[in-house]
Amino acid sequence: MHAFLDHCRSQLAEIRLQGRYRHFTPLRREATRFPVYTILRNGEPRDITVWSSNDYLAMGVDPVTIGGARDALENLGAGAGGTRNIGGTSPLHDALEAELAGLHGKDAALLFSSGFVSNQASLTAILRSLPDWHVFSDAKNHASMIAGIKGSPATVHIFRHNDLAHLAALLAAAPGDAPKLIAFESVYSMDADIAPIGAICDLADRHGALTYLDEVHAVGMYGAHGGGVSERDGVAHRLTVIEGTLAKAFGCHGGYIAAEATIIDYIRSTAPGFIFTTALPPAVVGGALASVRHLTRDTGRREALFRQVGLLKRKLDAAGLPRLPSESHIVPVMIRDADLCREVSRLLLERHGHYATPINYPTVPRGTERLRLTPTPLHTEAMMDDLVAALVDIFASMEERAA
Ligand code: PLP
Repeated sequence: MHAFLDHCRSQLAEIRLQGRYRHFTPLRREATRFPVYTILRNGEPRDITVWSSNDYLAMGVDPVTIGGARDALENLGAGAGGTRNIGGTSPLHDALEAELAGLHGKDAALLFSSGFVSNQASLTAILRSLPDWHVFSDAKNHASMIAGIKGSPATVHIFRHNDLAHLAALLAAAPGDAPKLIAFESVYSMDADIAPIGAICDLADRHGALTYLDEVHAVGMYGAHGGGVSERDGVAHRLTVIEGTLAKAFGCHGGYIAAEATIIDYIRSTAPGFIFTTALPPAVVGGALASVRHLTRDTGRREALFRQVGLLKRKLDAAGLPRLPSESHIVPVMIRDADLCREVSRLLLERHGHYATPINYPTVPRGTERLRLTPTPLHTEAMMDDLVAALVDIFASMEERAA
């Protein structure tokens, strides 16, 4: 047998032993019934309520988005038919980039195949541009940013999560004349906390550093027009690059960056992850354009999201369930054990018809395993009451078992 297959088998055995083997649960989403999905149980469909979707505002099932996607599909066809440079750019692509640039108050924007690719391709392109970049990366940055940074020869400094004093010390210790970039996120999706963006921009100004902000878990939801936390905090103009996704609150697919025209032009001309791949398909671009345009105006939907998030947090607290204090729309319920976390998730689904993905190592550190709940404007109070009662029941039966 080839050494590689040997390696795969032994690694997979190890992953299973550590409880990290990934089981996918096939969930059938029905646009008109979201967040109720169906799963097959003994060959029969069963309704379940899903609490783990990143379609945070339910725009992926909204007639506005579906209509935009359908029109583009019917008028322009299924695939883009080429890279952006070789026949793949449609007026829809240009319109979406212009819309996203406007959303963030930047000159220009650039679409990528996914949020992951936008981070990886853009960070690598920026950090390969000059010989002696120093990059300052938050310890909890997403794997896509880490991949982008690792793909470059930059000197990497990792600052403790959201720790301004540590970041300031690292900036001060770096060579004064080296080009510097601070890479961080606004809403951290696992801990549900929010970066002090303005204060990080202050440090960047003091040390002549550029800034790269991932707003993947904030665009569409924060700020008067859904421009993210940087819009909410009135600091978007201070950031060099703002990165986002069309796959979460906008309910579609794809990633993007927004920045001044020269930077966008440079990345457009040098990043292989942008250049050598087929453009996003028209249906995705048409759906995203309709969704982004709609969300710049639909403040009621943002208000409904935060109303439902507040309601769920209060209900969990009233029931004495251990949730991580969170200032964002993400509600982590702490289990703090990998096996228990999987078991709570299994019981929730099998006994009570609620689906919440267990989040275990390596996504979060060992001992901080959790269920990550993301209520949307379409989760009703009755659904929340049912979920909370189910969690109380499961926690009680586990305590009984442990006693
Ligand atoms: N950035 C962060 C912080 C993320 O959590 C994710 C993915 O979930 C991404 C980027 C990648 O975005 P996408 O799902 O569009 O590839």
